Amino acid sequence: MFAEYTEKQLAFKDTITAFVESEIRPLNDAYDLTLPFTAADIRKIWQKMIPVFLNPKDGEAIIDMKDIQNASHSGEGLLGGLPIDTILLGIAIEEIARVNPSLMCSIMISLAPAGTILVSRNDEMKKKYLLPVLTGQKIGCAAITEPGFGSHSAGFRTTAVLKGDHWLVNGTKTWISNGDISELCVLICSCDEGTGEPYTAQLLVDRDVSPYRSRSLPHMGLKQFPAGELVFEQVKVPAGNKISGSKEKKGDGLKKTLQAFEISRSCMALCSVGIAQAAIDASVAYVKERRQFGKLLGEFQMIQEMLSDMATETEAARMLAYRALSLIQAGKRAEAAAAMAKQYATEMAVRVTSKAVQIHGKAGLSEDFPIERMFRDARMLTIPDGTTQMQKLILGRALTGLSAFS
Ligand SMILES: Cc1cc2nc3c(=O)[nH]c(=O)nc-3n(C[C@H](O)[C@H](O)[C@H](O)COP(=O)(O)OP(=O)(O)OC[C@H]3O[C@@H](n4cnc5c(N)ncnc54)[C@H](O)[C@@H]3O)c2cc1C
Repeated sequence: MFAEYTEKQLAFKDTITAFVESEIRPLNDAYDLTLPFTAADIRKIWQKMIPVFLNPKDGEAIIDMKDIQNASHSGEGLLGGLPIDTILLGIAIEEIARVNPSLMCSIMISLAPAGTILVSRNDEMKKKYLLPVLTGQKIGCAAITEPGFGSHSAGFRTTAVLKGDHWLVNGTKTWISNGDISELCVLICSCDEGTGEPYTAQLLVDRDVSPYRSRSLPHMGLKQFPAGELVFEQVKVPAGNKISGSKEKKGDGLKKTLQAFEISRSCMALCSVGIAQAAIDASVAYVKERRQFGKLLGEFQMIQEMLSDMATETEAARMLAYRALSLIQAGKRAEAAAAMAKQYATEMAVRVTSKAVQIHGKAGLSEDFPIERMFRDARMLTIPDGTTQMQKLILGRALTGLSAFS
């Protein structure tokens, strides 16, 4: 059970905090916070982060690159046998999200295909794409949602029909993180090998080889985070690019997709924790400066109560998220733990940033202060990777053994 950071984790946290303050915070002045990152922006920033994230020397890094090409997935757990430290990953996510959650989301999504490739055991794809993804040469995305299928993600309509040496792909995916700037897409679709027995699969679509169209979708918060629609119209994808799913093991592709949510939901929870922590830090600083009725705001009991609630809820969410990541690290299933963390943390961040607005008064609503941006950013996170309601239904299913959805 996760209770406290180990010495190694604390040392990593110090390193990442110092890095974020010296290298990431200045980017908030260098970039327009209302415009989505381009692929070139993400590549450039990722180059700075590689030495901290991927350390080939001493193994104290999120991904140990020493033998990554030969690493192979084992066991039932999501990342069993792979040299990925999920707690260090969580620490990095929380720290980066504290300063720029849009950047955090974009980098994490870009790296996501690396995990999918490693888990897939497709050696050809591993050889071809693992390093380009990890080194930022290919900006990644994962496409499940379609215009008609959001929460009911398994209902998707995108198809891939095998024609000799390639799949012919048709369909539209929407609200895909990094979609418009993506260069490599993990596409969830229905594969048909001509046997009339379609099955769910994941295809790795390299945009250079298999061009697909896209457009950017503007949104309320996380303004620098590029979300987009992808259109596949008669797109040819090499037959060997299937990374999960087969007609023999029909449920395998869907199982892999759903299992990947365990880590993405835990990460989303820590992104929310990072935003909430930033709102607390800004609020504490503000109440020690702003005076009313001849007193500092921080001296008023009702202000202290709000701060105390904000800190307690943020810490509770942090513990839930690290607990889910600890289970994944231990090679155990974390579906319920990740659902609990995701729904609590994302809703918590909305409450906490809303209280931060209240504490700041009119300054909390002003675009001259960062608080309104934190509130809009937090509001974005109760929807992706399964809405709050879907997380509650997953928990309800775990508690009762009865499914409210299929
Ligand atoms: C910032 C962001 C990033 C995203 N990134 C990606 C990505 O990278 N890849 C990707 O594939 N998708 C992505 N999405 C899409 C996301 O996964 C969907 O938006 C989400 O699954 C919900 O689908 P929907 O928006 O269509 O809502 P709907 O499914 O239409 O739901 C609308 C409302 O109805 C509720 N509802 C639905 N079904 C039930 C039910 N059975 N019981 C109770 N309530 C229900 C929902 O909780 C919600 O409140 C992203 C979305 C956002 C906001």
